Amino acid sequence: MRVRIVGGGLAGSEAAWQAASRGVPVTLHEMRPARLTEAHKSDGLAELVCSNSFRSDDAEGNAVGLLHEEMRRAGSLIMAAADRHKLPAGAALAVDRDDFSACVTRALAADPLVAIERGEVAGLPPPEWDNVIIATGPLTSPALAEAIEALTGEGALAFFDAIAPIVHLDSIDPAITWRQSRYDKLGPGGTGADYINCPLRKGEYEAFIDALIGAEKTSFKAWEASTPYFEGCLPIEVMAERGRDTLRFGPMKPVGLSNPHTPGERPYAVVQLRQDNALGSLWNMVGFQTKLKHGEQTRVFRSIPGLARAEFARLGGLHRNTFLNAPKLLDPQLRLNVSPRLRFAGQITGCEGYVESAAIGLLAGQAAAAERRGRPWLSPPVTTALGALIGHITGGHLAAADDGGRSFQPMNINFGLFPPLTAGEAGPASGKDRGRNKKRRLSARALADLERWLAGRRDDAAA
Ligand SMILES: Cc1cc2nc3c(=O)[nH]c(=O)nc-3n(C[C@H](O)[C@H](O)[C@H](O)COP(=O)(O)OP(=O)(O)OC[C@H]3O[C@@H](n4cnc5c(N)ncnc54)[C@H](O)[C@@H]3O)c2cc1C
Repeated sequence: MRVRIVGGGLAGSEAAWQAASRGVPVTLHEMRPARLTEAHKSDGLAELVCSNSFRSDDAEGNAVGLLHEEMRRAGSLIMAAADRHKLPAGAALAVDRDDFSACVTRALAADPLVAIERGEVAGLPPPEWDNVIIATGPLTSPALAEAIEALTGEGALAFFDAIAPIVHLDSIDPAITWRQSRYDKLGPGGTGADYINCPLRKGEYEAFIDALIGAEKTSFKAWEASTPYFEGCLPIEVMAERGRDTLRFGPMKPVGLSNPHTPGERPYAVVQLRQDNALGSLWNMVGFQTKLKHGEQTRVFRSIPGLARAEFARLGGLHRNTFLNAPKLLDPQLRLNVSPRLRFAGQITGCEGYVESAAIGLLAGQAAAAERRGRPWLSPPVTTALGALIGHITGGHLAAADDGGRSFQPMNINFGLFPPLTAGEAGPASGKDRGRNKKRRLSARALADLERWLAGRRDDAAA
């Protein structure tokens, strides 16, 4: 009757806590300390491998702060440990990493329903494990990663992110940009106007190239440098360094496009954005994977005509990672379509960040426990941060027609993943605090809807 959880990181620890809180026995399999990853240094559960920050704790004005609050209300161990060991950090929730990890480890070790087994699961879990959560994270051990890849099919598991920035639609200037697909091609399911185009004149392009080349970059860690993607997926700043026109003949080529705002004038270069989520609220800068520092990305990309006021839902990056093409492979309960005994949680599902990984662990733990107890499990409403996140992973991303369905990239929680406010829910359409008010209303709606969802699950948690 056990739920087996592989990986005692942020997601696995939270999943174990949630399942045990519902009266379901759990075995948590963690390979450390016998085998470490390139980034983990201790034998503690829920080790924070880099920063000690859970980012903003503002539940009204920031989507990750809202996620914190929803997780607290859903009985999260990770949030309880973070709150207990928080450090002064302004509006952010930062923690003492050692005390935090020790707190999580102690809580799980003390739980009579949780057994912690140390050792690598070096391949697919044995067939007699019929309810498994795989939460082995971005640095999943190679033996298990290879087995998952063999099961899910070629290309279904990625080993790095080449992330291009994603922009909120309502921050793109429609007076400068226009919608058009190259050569007005319809493509499968297209309209001929599927891209948002930002035009650059010669001087603007030259200034943009200078800014790219001069901007500060982040460096690769030694163990990331051997990841074999550099030629296949070059950062735009590297392309710019190879030649001033490389981008103009690559992702910024101006062909097949005509700017209705300046008829008769051909753009010298064009930046294209492609719809990234089914809601149409988020747009991906096509081919703009980058290693620029985050502050530099904001500065340089806002120099592109039409993006002067761009708000970024996600900035670009290139990292070693391990994640599934989840919208294609997982069902709404995070189970693998081809092998439903295997459920996934954490960063391997294609969410990004400590808090998001723990949040998906929370949902996976609840769903696995409900399945064990023969109860139905409904995911939280899409209007909540928890629901928006799982919704994005299991279906919300809109795959680009021309990439073989592989355009899914890891995502932090952000308000662009939430369904827009209805006319009745929205406040005044203008005014100085419009953006802040919108977030406040989205948060209030989320917490009200979460309470209704939690009320329906209380008998479950009390088991
Ligand atoms: C180098 C690096 C830095 C990062 N920095 C940040 C940051 O600063 N802020 C942030 O929000 N996010 C960061 N992330 C992203 C991500 O949020 C974290 O990696 C987060 O820990 C993911 O949570 P998880 O539970 O999915 O995986 P993890 O916390 O990594 O947990 C996975 C666990 O599974 C174990 N494991 C792996 N394979 C096996 C196996 N076969 N058998 C048994 N156990 C196994 C591992 O030892 C590990 O304990 C970073 C990622 C990396 C790789």
